[in-house]
Amino acid sequence: MILENRYLEMAKTLHQNYPVVDAHLDLAGELFFRKQNGEENPLRSHYLKNLRTGGFRIIVSSVYLRDDQLPEGGLRAALDQISALLEAIEQNEEFCLIRSVEDMEQSLKKNQIGIVLYMEGLDCIGKDIKLLRILWELGVRGASLTWSRRNDLASGCCRAGQKIQISGGLSPEGVSAVQEAERLGMFLDISHLNDDGFEDICKVAKRPFVATHSNSQSVFFNYRNLNDSQMLRLAEREGIIGLNGCDCIVGCVNGENPLEMLCRHVEYAVALIGIEHVGLGLDFCDSYGDAEPGYTCVKSRHDCLIDHSHVPELTAALLQRGMDTEDVKKIIGGNWIRYFGRMLPKEQNLT
Ligand SMILES: [Zn+2]
Repeated sequence: MILENRYLEMAKTLHQNYPVVDAHLDLAGELFFRKQNGEENPLRSHYLKNLRTGGFRIIVSSVYLRDDQLPEGGLRAALDQISALLEAIEQNEEFCLIRSVEDMEQSLKKNQIGIVLYMEGLDCIGKDIKLLRILWELGVRGASLTWSRRNDLASGCCRAGQKIQISGGLSPEGVSAVQEAERLGMFLDISHLNDDGFEDICKVAKRPFVATHSNSQSVFFNYRNLNDSQMLRLAEREGIIGLNGCDCIVGCVNGENPLEMLCRHVEYAVALIGIEHVGLGLDFCDSYGDAEPGYTCVKSRHDCLIDHSHVPELTAALLQRGMDTEDVKKIIGGNWIRYFGRMLPKEQNLT
């Protein structure tokens, strides 16, 4: 798909004038690895310029643990990542941690880039549900129960690398984790959860839940993507689906045009569940992969766009294909800001 210059210019202007939100980036883990590798200020050197160019004002940072860190090292690895993220925010006045609506409003007003911290899987707490409160105190404002694996709380949509759906819903502790997370005020993320787990979340969750980084199975079948019924029920409960920009989730594995495929996912979701329920959760992972220790060969790239500075190209593509400017604003950030405005505590109150 060839972008016309006038749409690219319109998109760049939009991104500078309206806040853009990425609801999924493995930032905390990457910062931890890069600091371990001796980098002084990786948030500034790898992200500040690109985020500014892309107009990003809110990033949802996951805390994601690798299999080899579990189970024993999980809690420590999670705390190490949170520590690396908080230190990076402290080092850079252009960034701040968003723990409340007040924080979000201040950060937008001061033209900072706000970071919302969330757990991608709660493996690190095992069955110890009361530790959710400690995570909350550290600034964690959301959680998914599991990544693509089984843990004490739930089962993932498939074992990573094997396309086999794991059956079985939430454990009793998983149900308690949902209840406690909601009591504290955390948002719930169902990306990576299996189908049985999704059904259980629908029964247990009282507040709107989201899929921070999943696409549509009807556009591209992958266990990580959601089927139509799941997308509809998520939207009925006033949740949001964040468009994933990783090639294997988007469906760019056989030479498909990435922009075209990303647009198809957005347009399908908008047509099925409505404009209010679609956002970005780009899940860019190439930079994370570069930082990961043990990396010895040139990796293939997985991100459908080069980095955050190139996201206006997606906006330009949507505009060029006929999407209305007001609708585009909702997708690039407006919907997530509305959601966090509703879900975050009003002030930075502790429990
Ligand atoms: Zn993920």
